[in-house]
Amino acid sequence: MTIDTQPHPRQALLPNTDQSCLGILGGGQLGRMFAHAAQSMGYRVAVLEPEAGCPAGQVAEHHLQAAYDDRDALLALGKLSHAVTTEFENVPAGSLIMLAQHGFVSPAGECVSVAQDRLQEKEFFTRCGAHTGVFPAPHLGIANESDLASVGDHLLPGILKTVRMGYDGKGQIRVRTRDELATAFAEMNGQVCVLEKMLPLAYEVSVLVARGVDGEAVVYPIAENVHRDGILFTTTVPSPNVTDGVAHKAQKAALELIAELGYVGVLCIEFFVLQDGSLVINEMAPRPHNSGHYTIDACVTSQFEQQVRALAQLPLGDVRQHSSAVMLNILGDVWFDGDTGSAHDPAWDQVLALPGAHLHLYGKAEARRARKMGHITFVAPTLDAAQATLAKACAILGIAA
Ligand code: ATP
Ligand code: MG
Repeated sequence: MTIDTQPHPRQALLPNTDQSCLGILGGGQLGRMFAHAAQSMGYRVAVLEPEAGCPAGQVAEHHLQAAYDDRDALLALGKLSHAVTTEFENVPAGSLIMLAQHGFVSPAGECVSVAQDRLQEKEFFTRCGAHTGVFPAPHLGIANESDLASVGDHLLPGILKTVRMGYDGKGQIRVRTRDELATAFAEMNGQVCVLEKMLPLAYEVSVLVARGVDGEAVVYPIAENVHRDGILFTTTVPSPNVTDGVAHKAQKAALELIAELGYVGVLCIEFFVLQDGSLVINEMAPRPHNSGHYTIDACVTSQFEQQVRALAQLPLGDVRQHSSAVMLNILGDVWFDGDTGSAHDPAWDQVLALPGAHLHLYGKAEARRARKMGHITFVAPTLDAAQATLAKACAILGIAA
């Protein structure tokens, strides 16, 4: 499937002119870091986000406070901005498609909509499997009782996932038996789901790719991800476990998929590496990704600058990694004492005394458990050194390493 990206002027939007304003749908941390990159290159930024004081709204020149599908606000965003992007996956694809009638939008709503639906996404991966050589986990769409009855034994134990709106492991229930599956499906309140076979994972990796309007594409080094309680905990690059063969296969698949989609912008693709060494494709995020935050401090061009370049129809930047890196997500939990639960400010001064530590906080006023408040990237000449610094930071912050 090559998605027909809408007609748009194929002309670079140069920075520092009256028109050089980039729009974002969504006001979270990804939008904030996009805005930082855009502003440092001489663009103004407009954000559409209903929440007052949101991370991106704090730094953007314009914050339109309205719902993501508010037609007037979308038109106002389109008017302010020469080009518009999105910073979170569940933005209504229809809003992007509508904005594309007025100006350049990337990624296209049509691409975002494939990534918003786990079944469509898996169908796309399966269809491309013939040339990528990488397939999703065995799975079955479950919309009703008769689908439940047709589940084959080979899909159990499995994970039942809602087809839409899942993130950070939300909307997922692990099931071992048919009875558990029936109970789990009932708990999903009629939402269409997909049952995936539970696979024996050895580790998880992701690949960031970016593609410009001219079809030129670049791929970042493969990143290894560790999750805790369904949330990304660390990203390590270079990946300690991946073989050259697996890395090459994942990067090649990512390049083929982005071209097949006709996608413009930064795309992140998540893979599983199984205990037998085989590669399985999990899902894609049509935007910069948490596992790509390390690129800010460890690569020549960050994923956010890359997104700005793609959106402004400029040449893409060098993806070369210049330092080994470990990225640690900072959740609201580190504001609370593990034993007493009392709140305190984390000892950032001690963390920043560590060599190669780069702190990024997202401007969220209230620290809540499991809420992504920021991240720290530890860069070093060697991965061992970066990992040693990570261990020291975890000890300072009271995070079990
Ligand atoms: P995120 O937003 O963090 O990317 P998500 O909610 O979209 O997550 P998935 O990435 O599909 O959900 O799954 C979350 C995690 O659950 C995966 O990173 C992996 O650790 C585990 N997982 C998901 N599917 C499978 C599977 N089929 N077999 C084994 N483990 C799985
Ligand atoms: Mg995932």
